[in-house]
Amino acid sequence: MEKLQKCLECGAAWAAGQTCEDHFHQMLFWEAENPRYGAEVHHLLVLCYYLQHPSLYSPAGLSEAQRLLVEFVERETSPGEVRQRNRARVDSSQRHWKIKGTAASHGSYDRPMPWPMTAADVVAGGAESYCDNVRAWARAVNETLKTVR
Ligand SMILES: [Zn+2]
Repeated sequence: MEKLQKCLECGAAWAAGQTCEDHFHQMLFWEAENPRYGAEVHHLLVLCYYLQHPSLYSPAGLSEAQRLLVEFVERETSPGEVRQRNRARVDSSQRHWKIKGTAASHGSYDRPMPWPMTAADVVAGGAESYCDNVRAWARAVNETLKTVR
């Protein structure tokens, strides 16, 4: 009998041995193949994937990511605008906090998050629907974060 494996961070079932990281790499591959995809939704892909795997962030990185997702999803700010506006805030030379989590200090939620959509769903939608699905994923992640905030 095959053991059902599950992601400890986002809770997604790993069907056929495909982990969330495998799905993340599949999406990066589609972006590399279709540069337009990357230009449109790469910033959302990274935010969604990392927000659903919060230990990849430092605690401060996790709250910054949540703030950024609200900017993108609710205010439809473009990545370029955010970069410009945040230059002073998040410029690495002036940054007082680290974005990446470490074993000793990383982001987490105080309860399991009921994500309606994960990386596996975006990959299941195929390359043709990739951009639409990443946008839907970003809205879903933002809604879930709001309900537990
Ligand atoms: Zn996962």
